[in-house]
Parts: sequence; structure tokens; C-alpha cells
Amino acid sequence: MAVFCKESMVMFLLVASFSISYCSSATRLKKIDHSAKDNGNLRFLVVGDWGRKGDYNQSVVAFQMGRIGEKLDIDFVVSTGDNFYTNGLTGEDDRNFLESFSNVYKAKSLQTLWYTVLGNHDYRGDALAQLSPYLRKIDSRWICLRSFIINAAEIAEIFMVDTTPFVKEYFVETEHTYDWRNVMPQKTYTQNLLNDLENALSESTAKWKIVVGHHAIRSVGHHGDTNELVERLLPILRAYDVDLYMNGHDHCLEHISDTESPIQFLTSGAGSKAWRGDVKGLNNEEMKFFYDGQGFMSVQLTPTHVEIEFYDVFGKVLHRWSRSKHLLHSII
Ligand SMILES: [Zn+2]
Repeated sequence: MAVFCKESMVMFLLVASFSISYCSSATRLKKIDHSAKDNGNLRFLVVGDWGRKGDYNQSVVAFQMGRIGEKLDIDFVVSTGDNFYTNGLTGEDDRNFLESFSNVYKAKSLQTLWYTVLGNHDYRGDALAQLSPYLRKIDSRWICLRSFIINAAEIAEIFMVDTTPFVKEYFVETEHTYDWRNVMPQKTYTQNLLNDLENALSESTAKWKIVVGHHAIRSVGHHGDTNELVERLLPILRAYDVDLYMNGHDHCLEHISDTESPIQFLTSGAGSKAWRGDVKGLNNEEMKFFYDGQGFMSVQLTPTHVEIEFYDVFGKVLHRWSRSKHLLHSII
């Protein structure tokens, strides 16, 4: 009976802090309103590339996420994709969902909403299964859509973008098969997505604009830059004053500053996988931080201040970056 009451309370808290908006809007991206616990502050964790049934240090990273999550009193978690290795989920009933998500991220502070995008490994399985509302009946924390917007407490808007269909290589390689249902034709899908994103960014009055995708725009890790995103996505981010771009895919933690705008490129793709020593271009002056071990990132926001921290598998802060910006006030 005690367990039932506790779960009911968690369900109530999740429902109370989260609503999907169906208000009229020029954009076709679904908007989720998330009210912060602490008015004026927003705090969340970012982790990617994690689902390995707790093995390969996934559980150790999860433990530290729980500890830091409690310390910061986080509002939610963002997953940058490659949620389930090696080939996504086989279907809605795949036990990998429980074994790699529900049974691993058990800490009290992580019993909050997880806003999630798909990675390329997720597309190798049943991509629609991860998007299914049925998974929310199994674990009510799970919010996975292809592309959507989190309106976070009127402090930030977080634009979650489905980047896998942009990468041409996946459409020609023969080693793996991908679930492209509802994505084809690829050119139409990606152009519509960019149009929707541009509309949403142009309408946004958020104090901080954050874009999240699975693939890096800039990275010095194994995969490096994603040329399709450099060509097609980056110009939009620069044109609409996006502050931060966050991604996974490269199994490292890194921070690179854009050379032509205030955008910061932040990779958090080390929830379990880590590629030691697979790195190039560390001497670039825009390179602020690179760590090729496991870990995760936190984001703390007020209307005028942002602070980013990267943590290793022991929960130690490896890199901290912050920025303040003045708000424009109209005097009436
Ligand atoms: Zn990936």
C-alpha cells in the first residue's frame, strides 16, 4: 500500500508540472509547457548515449546523476538520444526499456520527466515504439517525440530536433537497416522540420533559446562535425540568436564556442559509452573543454544567467562555464 501511495504522488507531480499545448500557433511543432519548481530558476541534467542495461558504467553515471540531481533540485532530464543500444527497441514490449531506463535511473531526483529525442541507434530498431504513448503507461517519466518544444517556465524554450534523418550516410549504407516510417521522402521531411523550427524560433520570446539534437554540429570526437547540420541547421540557429546547441552521438563531454555567433556547442554523449583517445583538433582556439570519459552535464538558468557544468563518473565537476546577459526592458 505504501508503494502505491508513493507512486500515485509521483504521478500527480508529473501531471501537475507538465502539459502539452494545443493552442493555435504558426508552428507545427508540439509545445510542452513545463512549470519550474522554483520560480525564476530552471535546472536540468543532460545525458546521452546510455541504454546498456546498467552495464559499462551506465549505473554508475546514473547514481551520480541522482546525487547531482538532488543537490540541484532539478526540474527535468534531457536525453540527447541513442537511448537503447545496440539497435533501439524491438517494440513497445521490449524489456530493454525497463532494463536500460526504468531499472537504472532509480534515484529519487530522477523521478521527473525525461524529454527525449531519437538517435541513429534508436532508428535501427522500432522507432515508433519509442514514440508510443504506451511507454508512458509503463514509466510515466518518458516523453519521446521526434521534434518538439519545451516551454520551460518562461525562462527558456528548448527546441528538440530529430537530426538522424538529416544524415545522408544512413540512407546509403548497407550494414544496418533503419526504420524510416513516417520520415520518407527524406528531403521533404527534413525541409518541413527546418521550416517548422525556423517559424518557432522566429516567434519565440524566450529569454534563452536552446536547441537539442542527437548529432553534433561541431565536435572533435570520433564522428566530428555533422556536415549536413553545419550546412542546413547552423545558419538558422545563428539567424535567430540561439544560445546553446546540445547533442550526444560523440561519446564524450565537450564544449566548443562558435566562431561567428554567441552559440555554445555542448556535447553530452557519455551516459555509458566512451571512446578513449579518439579525438582530433584539440588545439582549436574555440575548443573550451574535451573529456573522452563517461559522464553528464547540468544546466542552471535564471532569466539573466546560465551556468553549465560537466561531471565525470565520480560526480566531479570537470568544466564549468557561465554567461550573463542583460534583458531589454521596455519603459512604458
Ligand atoms: Zn549516435
